[in-house]
Amino acid sequence: MIIDCHAHVGNMGGRVWTPQELLAQMDEAGVDYSLLITLEEQQENKQLTIEEIIQVCEKFPRLIPVGRIDYNDSIKEQTDKLIGYLKEKKIVGVKFYLGYQKYHANDSKLHPIYKFCQENNFPVMYHTGMLETGFPGLLKSSHPLTIDEVADAFPDLKIIIAHMGNPWIMDCAAVMLKNRNVYMDFSAYFTEYAPIKDADTEFFVKRLSEVKFFLGDFKKCLFGTDWPLYSQKEYLNAVQKLPMTDEEKELVFRKNAKEIFNLKV
Ligand SMILES: [Zn+2]
Repeated sequence: MIIDCHAHVGNMGGRVWTPQELLAQMDEAGVDYSLLITLEEQQENKQLTIEEIIQVCEKFPRLIPVGRIDYNDSIKEQTDKLIGYLKEKKIVGVKFYLGYQKYHANDSKLHPIYKFCQENNFPVMYHTGMLETGFPGLLKSSHPLTIDEVADAFPDLKIIIAHMGNPWIMDCAAVMLKNRNVYMDFSAYFTEYAPIKDADTEFFVKRLSEVKFFLGDFKKCLFGTDWPLYSQKEYLNAVQKLPMTDEEKELVFRKNAKEIFNLKV
C-alpha cells in the first residue's frame, strides 16, 4: 500500500484540478490513498472550503481530508470548528501555511488548537521552505527552525514539516533530530508543473543522502508529492530511488502516514 500524504484539488497554477484527475493519477502511479489538504484562502483564488473538501472525500474514500487554519480575525471560531471536525473524525489533521499568510508557527493564538491536537493525538502540518516567486508572504515565517519552538512548547504534538523546509533541508533535519515527534514529508522538491528529469532526481538523491547521513535513517520521513504540481508517478519514482532499507520504505510509504494521521486503511 502507498499513501501520498500531501495532495490538493482546486485552483492551482491558473486552473481548477478535480478529484477525478487526482484519482486517475493515483491509479497510474499505484498510489492507494492521498491526503487531500485544504488550500489556504487567497484573495483572487477562491479555494474549496473545509466542508467542500470533506464532501469530496466522503464521495471518494481514497481521498482523506486535512483541514487548515487561515490566519485572520476568526482563528477562535475556526479552532472550535476544526476541533469539532477532528472529534467527529471528519478530518485527520490540520495544516498551517505560515509564510504564505505571514504568521509565526508559535503564535499564541494557535496554542488552543495545538493543545487539543497534542492531548488527542492529532497531527499538525506546516508549509515550510520557499514561497511562490512574487507572492507577498514572508520567508522568515516559512523557515523550518521556527517549528522547533512549537515542538519545544508541545513535545507530544505530532508535527509534519512539509517540503523538508527546502532549501533549508538540513535545518529541517536538525529540528527532526532534536525533537522526537517531528517528521518531514518529501513533497514539492522539484520544479513545479514540469516533468522530473533524471538529473533532478540524481541531485535529489544526493541531497537526501546527506540528510540520511545526518539523521541516521529516513524513519521519520513521509512520501508526499504536492500533486498537482507534479506527476504523482514521476514523484514516486524519484522517492523510490532514495537509499532506503525495507523498514524505511514501509515507514515512508505507509506506516508513518497511517500512524500519525490515525488512518483506518
Ligand atoms: Zn501543498
